[in-house]
Amino acid sequence: MPDVQKKVEEIYQQVVRRNPGELEFHQAVKEVIDTLGPVLKKYPHYAEHKVIERICEPERQIIFRVPWQDDSGEVQINRGFRVQFNSVLGPYKGGLRFHPSVLLGTIKFLGFEQVFKNALTGMPIGGGKGGSDFDPKGRTDAEVMRFCQSFMTELHRHLGEHTDVPAGDIGVGAREIGYLFGQYKRMTNRYESGVLTGKSPHWGGALVRREATGYGAVYFAEEMLKTKGDSLAGKVCVVSGAGNVAIYAIEKIQQLGGTVVACSDSGGVIYHERGIELDTLKQIKEVERKRISVYADIHHDAKFIPSGSIWDIPCQVAMPSATQNELDGTAAKKLVSNGCIAVSEGANMPTTPEGVRVFQESGVLYAPGKAANAGGVATSALEMQQNATRDAWSFEHTERRLHEIMIEIHRACYETSAEFGATGNYVLGANIVGFKRVAEAMVAFGLI
Ligand code: GLU
Repeated sequence: MPDVQKKVEEIYQQVVRRNPGELEFHQAVKEVIDTLGPVLKKYPHYAEHKVIERICEPERQIIFRVPWQDDSGEVQINRGFRVQFNSVLGPYKGGLRFHPSVLLGTIKFLGFEQVFKNALTGMPIGGGKGGSDFDPKGRTDAEVMRFCQSFMTELHRHLGEHTDVPAGDIGVGAREIGYLFGQYKRMTNRYESGVLTGKSPHWGGALVRREATGYGAVYFAEEMLKTKGDSLAGKVCVVSGAGNVAIYAIEKIQQLGGTVVACSDSGGVIYHERGIELDTLKQIKEVERKRISVYADIHHDAKFIPSGSIWDIPCQVAMPSATQNELDGTAAKKLVSNGCIAVSEGANMPTTPEGVRVFQESGVLYAPGKAANAGGVATSALEMQQNATRDAWSFEHTERRLHEIMIEIHRACYETSAEFGATGNYVLGANIVGFKRVAEAMVAFGLI
């Protein structure tokens, strides 16, 4: 094994040893540092400054108790997290995830990915992530409000528009951001718009923030297809999930002339050959907060498949937009054999390492989440920009900025993959671009 490769492997083993049991964090670290060998060779000063070792260690990790009372008066206890991973490029920035599966290792994997993703956007934002094992599903608005107030009562002391700026993620949308912002304002006696993003446009939120992650991931797919002289027009697509990312990925695919034949939630898959009716999906998910199975009760030509994999449905473009590790090697093989030519990740780390290998070996255009879904956080940075100047931009202007940013991220990843002799390897391109931007600042700042 060449020297640098050995060094990188040692760093990974150290991460595993020092963070026992945090499998998703190990996976995210491995995926990045496996591609960094050529960078260390080209820029030996990164190794001298132990940049990789430092990047793998969060600057600060906060874990706290979140007590609250449900509607029946029963006391509930959840755990809150905020992992402030890296702040050399700007204040910690990244979402909050409320989901029963959340563990420290989950937040660390998300925070680690966020550092590179945020660097890729070219905006002045560091990386962090937070959340809780609280499950908002089935909870009333009043319960969600009490939980959010308790969560923010502890978290507020660690935040600030120049310090740490959370946003949404799975289980955290405009409703939760509203309750969190209200409590932050009350605790601090400050109307500090830029302390949270993903706010409602009625009180400081950016237009397009809701749409941005899904739209951005579709723009990235379109850019990848362009490198082959192709486009989304006329393509059959499958988008997993039915949350914020999936809904707006579907919307943008439809605008660009593609047909989305399937989407999903944890209860099953909806297959609608003539194309998903977006208004129905939005009504079910955004207004009524119901399960996706209801869709088939409304559209009788659609099929609800309660078990089985969405990736068995033939498509040319796949957009995993639900959650981590939702697409494994078997699913990837199925997609390839069904004629899939492009995969753009709306979710964070939705494809397993084996799945990624299958796509890369089969010549599928494959965009990792940290590049493809960066439009969400990039638009959060645009929201911070508007808040800092007490401005509010139009939908058209903001969407144009998002589009430009996604084109630029694609260009940087593509050109870097070519520079390192692996043209079209977006995993390598994204990791190297993000890493170099963070590493340069870390070296410049000295040992901090
Ligand atoms: N949670 C989103 C992500 O994974 C957005 C974070 C943000 O807007 O700060 O990038």
